[in-house]
This record gives sequence, structure tokens and C-alpha cells, in this order.
Amino acid sequence: MQNHQAFIDAACAVIGHDHVLTSDLDMYAQDWRKKYFGRPLAVLRPASTAEVAALVKLCVEHAVAIVPQGGNTGICAGSVPDASGEQVVLNLARLNRLRSVDPANNTMTVEAGCILQTLQDTAESVDRLFPLSLGAEGSCQIGGNISTNAGGVQVLRYGNTRDLVLGLEVVLPSGEILDILRGLRKDNTGYDLKQLFIGAEGTLGIITAATLKLFPAPRACAVAFAALSSPAQAVKLLQHMRAELGERFTAFELMSDASIDLIRCHFPASPNPFTSPHSWYVLMEATDSGTDAALGALFEGALERVLEQGIIDDVALASSKAQAGELWMMRENVSEAQQIDSPNIKHDISLPISSIPAFIDEVVGALEKTYPGVRPIIYGHLGDGNLHFNIARPLAVDNAQWQDETHAVNTMVHDAVVRQRGSISAEHGIGQAKQEEMAHYKSEAELVVMRAIKRAIDPQLLMNPGKVLDMGSTS
Ligand SMILES: Cc1cc2nc3c(=O)[nH]c(=O)nc-3n(C[C@H](O)[C@H](O)[C@H](O)COP(=O)(O)OP(=O)(O)OC[C@H]3O[C@@H](n4cnc5c(N)ncnc54)[C@H](O)[C@@H]3O)c2cc1C
Repeated sequence: MQNHQAFIDAACAVIGHDHVLTSDLDMYAQDWRKKYFGRPLAVLRPASTAEVAALVKLCVEHAVAIVPQGGNTGICAGSVPDASGEQVVLNLARLNRLRSVDPANNTMTVEAGCILQTLQDTAESVDRLFPLSLGAEGSCQIGGNISTNAGGVQVLRYGNTRDLVLGLEVVLPSGEILDILRGLRKDNTGYDLKQLFIGAEGTLGIITAATLKLFPAPRACAVAFAALSSPAQAVKLLQHMRAELGERFTAFELMSDASIDLIRCHFPASPNPFTSPHSWYVLMEATDSGTDAALGALFEGALERVLEQGIIDDVALASSKAQAGELWMMRENVSEAQQIDSPNIKHDISLPISSIPAFIDEVVGALEKTYPGVRPIIYGHLGDGNLHFNIARPLAVDNAQWQDETHAVNTMVHDAVVRQRGSISAEHGIGQAKQEEMAHYKSEAELVVMRAIKRAIDPQLLMNPGKVLDMGSTS
């Protein structure tokens, strides 16, 4: 306890009493899904890279473990501490300056605590696009996006966060600052170190700033909502639309009928463009640097052909920005609707796109046989081969009983994913929630290399312990 007080006094000397929080810490201690409740020793809120570096050195001196925290919207509980009362949360919210924008280089350099939506707006203010876009964009931070290699709804055209980062500034677990904040698209001088920290979930260091890619701002946008009979038709639709629209095709989001029912139940004002219900739906978007009229004609023509060929059963084309926004809001409300509804067993999987229809048939069939009345809430980024494959309880089973089935359901889903050489975590990461499963499903060779990297960079194992990898004893 005395040791802890000495640590807290020293942290106050670095960042001031007001930014070393030791009471009312619940919002920093609990994950977004409210499944993990930790007990932080303190929450530290530095405002500069130098302050982060000084705090990390202090943690090393006092052997205090550090949990980096951005917007705390992560789905795998990577950003909250354990219950020991021995770990500090290092919250990056005050490190939120825009350092520079370079429209000629199509880059911006920003601090880790910048909110994603603010960065989208910053790009727009210089007539550029920062394409990372996801449901939590109003509260997640770019440091958290980079640390989880976030995906979102425009990966089809622009790639994951990994593809959007040109340079990083990182405070290493030693407290040293690694400055690889370059805005270069070509740099073959040895290992590409930034890639190590992207998707590392705060286990290798604290990202304090990043240089991000910008793109020309699209001038035209077309959005459509299609109804179809099966995931196999959705895969055919994706191929046709990509063939016709090429790189204009930006987003392709699949939703099952159960997902739509859930949205309409909890968000009754959601649009309902079809007169009769369908089994599956797809929300699609294309953007272009030409005119709305030209893109609209291309998009409509492509949709007419897939309708004629029987690939889709019906389609509604958004006729205004407001209508397009309503359709997108419906997609973005799926997570929220599930959160309001009874808890369900969540999976964030990726597979080769061609394997997805057979995978859904096989696994839904097996689940329905084992748990009659089960409700698969399947939706997500089919264009990237990524599905949120969430399984809601049969109505006859109560919540507690359904939670008890988590391990069995996870095994059914993830065994099938791995048989198809897919991934058990496409975009949400590992955190605490999937650590055991990663240890089970990854090969020993992969785990050995990962542990060697972790030990080389963080020999005292102080950086976000208990997340991603099981490193055994810290001694
Ligand atoms: C409604 C909703 C929709 C979502 N949709 C998507 C989606 O479409 N695609 C997707 O990929 N994710 C999605 N997510 C998950 C989540 O928003 C993302 O993972 C996001 O990138 C996390 O950012 P954050 O700032 O909240 O990070 P946090 O939750 O605070 O942290 C996430 C991880 O990163 C580490 N970390 C945070 N900041 C830093 C830093 N500066 N340096 C080092 N480590 C750090 C933390 O320790 C933790 O391990 C969604 C979440 C919600 C709630």
C-alpha cells in the first residue's frame, strides 16, 4: 500500500493531481459489453507523449502493470484491468491534438486520443476522405482503432486500419519513444516495425500518434437495400456488383431476417422498404468522383440485371442522402439492438467468401438440431468474408441457462471456422475474452513466435498483461 502511495505521488508529480484518478473509476474499469469488471490501482490521464513516456518509466520503476485505454468500446475487454487492484489504466483521451494535415501528401498526423469521427470531419474539411468507419466512431479513438486493427464498413474498398497507417509514434514498455512517424508510401529500410504495434491490443507499447492516409473525397454516393433468399445468392450478388462497379463498390453488408426483426423491435422507426418479409438482406454502397447521376445510372443498371437474373428478389434504392442515412443507421443499430435484447453468444469470424454459404448452412443446421428454436443473429461485412455470427437463446431457455452453453456453442462455431482455415477473430481482437480460444486454435509455432516478440519488447511483461497471450508467470 505504501509502495502504491509512493507511485501515485510520483504520478501526480508528472501529470498533476487532477489527472491521477483514484476514485469513481467504474467507467474505466468496465468493458463496453459489461462482462468484465476490473479494479484499477489508478487511472492516469497524460496529455503529451513526454508525459506518457515519463509515466511508463515510473511504472517500470515501481513494477506496476499498464492497461492502455482509448474510447473503451472494444468488444473483447482488452482495455480494462484485472481485479487485482495492482494495474493502472493509462487513458489516452487528453492526447488528442491534430498535429498536421498535408493534403498534397494525402496524410494527416494525429494523436492517439483523437475520436475517429473528429478525424473523418478533419479530412472532410480539407476535401479528403479518411475512410475508417464503424458503429462506435463517435467514441472510439484512433489509438484504439490502430491497436485493434479495426475493420468497419469500408474495408472492401480501402482495407483495414493496417492499410491506412503510414507511420507511428509509440512509447515502448521501457519508456523510450519510438518515432517512426513517417508519411511515406515506400520505405524498404529493414523490418516494417509499425506493423508490430498495429493490432497488438496495447501489449507491446502505447501508441501516442499516427500518420494516416487520406483519399480523394467522393463526390457521388449510391446506396441500396436488397432482399434475397440465401447467403449463396448474396455471394453471387457481390461478384456481379464488383464486376460491374469495380473499385467504386465500397460496402456490402449482409443481415439475416432475425437481425432485421431485432432492429425493428428495438428501433421501430427503422425503414421497412419491402411489403413482404425475406430471409436475407444486403446493404450496398458505391461511391465515385463523378456525378450522382452517372453513378446512379451505373448502380441502377447493375441492380436491374441482378433482379432480372433472379439473384435478388427485391431492391430499394435510396433516393436521397437522408434515406441512405436511415438505411445505414439500421445496419449500425444491430449491435445496440442485441445489447438491449437478451445476451447472446457472439462470434466475429472470417472465412474465404466462397465458403460462407456452406458454413452458414452447416453450423446453423447443427445449432438448430442441438438447440431447437435458437435464433442466429448473423450479419456483417460479407464483402470482407467477415460475419458477426451471434447466437441468441431459444425463447424457451432463460438467459442464465443460455450463458452456460457458451463454451459448447463457441466450440461448434469455432471448430467449423478452423476446419475451413478461417479466423475466430476477424476484427474485434483477442483481449481477455478470446485468449484461451486463441491458445487452443493457433498453432504452437505461431504462439512461440508471438511470445518471443512479446518478451523481446516487454521483458518485464508490464504492458497490458493478461491480454492476447498467456505469458504464464511474470517472474
Ligand atoms: C457499436 C459498436 C460497433 C463496432 N463496430 C466495429 C466494426 O465494425 N469493426 C471493428 O473493427 N470494431 C468494431 N467495434 C469495436 C471497437 O469499436 C473497435 O475495436 C475500436 O477500434 C476500439 O477503439 P477504442 O478507442 O474504443 O479502444 P479501446 O476499447 O479503449 O481499446 C481496445 C484495445 O486497444 C488498446 N489500446 C487503446 N488505445 C491504445 C493506444 N493508444 N496504444 C496502445 N493500445 C491501445 C487497449 O488496451 C485494448 O486492448 C465496434 C464497437 C461497438 C461498441
